[in-house]
Amino acid sequence: MAFPTDPSGLGPMPPERFAELTELKAARAATPPPVLLEVDPPRTPTISTPFAREILAAALERRLTGGEVLALFEEASLNDLGDAAQRLRLKRTDPEVVTYIIDRNVTYTNLCYADCQFCAFNRHQGDGDDYLLEIDQILEKCRTVDQAGGNQILLQGGHHPKMRLPYYEEMLRAIKAAWPNMWIHGFSPSEIQHFARLNGLSHREVLSRLKEAGLDSIPGGGAEILSDRVRKILAPGKTMSAEWIEIMETGHAVGLPSTVTMMFAHIETYAERVEHLLRARASQDRTGGYTAFIPWTFQPANTPLQNDPALKAAVEAQGFLGSVDYLRTLAISRIALDNFPNLQASWVTQGKAVGQLTLYYGANDLGSLMMEESVVSKAGTVHALTRADLDEMIVGAGFRPVLRDNGYRHLT
Ligand code: SF4
Repeated sequence: MAFPTDPSGLGPMPPERFAELTELKAARAATPPPVLLEVDPPRTPTISTPFAREILAAALERRLTGGEVLALFEEASLNDLGDAAQRLRLKRTDPEVVTYIIDRNVTYTNLCYADCQFCAFNRHQGDGDDYLLEIDQILEKCRTVDQAGGNQILLQGGHHPKMRLPYYEEMLRAIKAAWPNMWIHGFSPSEIQHFARLNGLSHREVLSRLKEAGLDSIPGGGAEILSDRVRKILAPGKTMSAEWIEIMETGHAVGLPSTVTMMFAHIETYAERVEHLLRARASQDRTGGYTAFIPWTFQPANTPLQNDPALKAAVEAQGFLGSVDYLRTLAISRIALDNFPNLQASWVTQGKAVGQLTLYYGANDLGSLMMEESVVSKAGTVHALTRADLDEMIVGAGFRPVLRDNGYRHLT
C-alpha cells in the first residue's frame, strides 16, 4: 500500500497507524462476528393497544422498564406517544419556553481512516479534497460567530492520523485568548479515544489537558446506536458502547458536561434503540453530566453503506425512514429518559415543518442555528434556517423563543 504525501506538508502518513487501525477493525469483526439481522420490517401502529395505553399512563407517574419502552415502539400510536411526551416535557422543563443556540461547526479536518459505513464526510490522503485547518483559519471562522452574536464553537473532525495533542491544545488556547467567553463544545468520545491512542495517554489525561486548554463541554457525537452489534458493522474503527460511555463519564468527572446523540433508522432494531436509551439513562443516573439528548435520523446519500449491497438492502428492508418514525422515536425518548431535562429537535434532518412539530412530541430545544455544517450536509441534507425562521417556528407553535448557552442558561 502506498502512503501518499500529505499536501499540507506534514509528510508521509506513518504506516504503523494504518496497521494498527486495520488490526483493530479486523479484531472487532471477528470477536464475535457481527450479524446483519434479517428482521421483518417493523409495523407502525396506527392505534395504540390497551397495553400501550396502560404504559403511557404509567409513564406519567414513574420510570418505565426496558420492556415497556420496547412495547411503546411496537404498540403505541404516534398521537398517543405525542400526548404523553408533551405532558412530560411540560412537567420537566419550562412550559412556556423553547430554546436554541447560535453557533458554528468548525470541522478541523476531514482526514480520517476510521471509515464508518454511514460517513459521507471523511477523506484519505491523496483524495484531492482532504484538508486540515490551520489555527488561523479556525480563528477566522470563530470571528464570524462572534460577529453574528453567537456564543459557541462546535469543534469536531476526523481522526487525523498524525496531529498530536498539542495541535488541539493550541487550537483551544488560541480561541480562548481571542474570545474568553466563547463556549467551546468539542471532540466527541471517538476523537478523545483516538487522541489517547496516538499520544499514549489515558482518556482522563487527554480530557484534563483539553479542559485545561479551554474545552468547555463534549458533544455527544459518535454515539450512533449504543449497541455493539450495530457498531461492529457500521463503525468498527471507533469506540464501542462501553468505551463511549466511559469516556463521557470520565469527562463528567473532570468537569466537562456533555450531550448524547442517537443516529437511528439504519440497521438497528427497536430493541437496540431501547438499549441505547437505557445506556444513556443509566449513565445519567451515575453522573448527572448530560445536558441534553439529541436523536436524529441517518442520512444515507453518498455514504459507503450505499455501495455495500447487503448493508444497503438491510437499511431499505427496515422501512424505518420517515418523519412518523422520527417523531415516534423523539416522543419515546422523552418518555423513557426521565432524567434528561432537555430534548433537542433535529430540524437539520427533518426540515422546518417537521422541526416545528417536534415541539409537540417532547422537544423543548431547537438545537443550534448552525452557521456552518459540513457533516450531514455531505450526506445530502440541505435544510438551512435563519434566526427569524427559528423564532417563527417557536412562536407559531405557541412558545416563547429564548437564546441559550451550552449550559442551557437563558441569555434573552
Ligand atoms: S464518522 Fe467520524 S470517525 Fe467515522 S469516518 Fe466519519 S469522520 Fe471518521
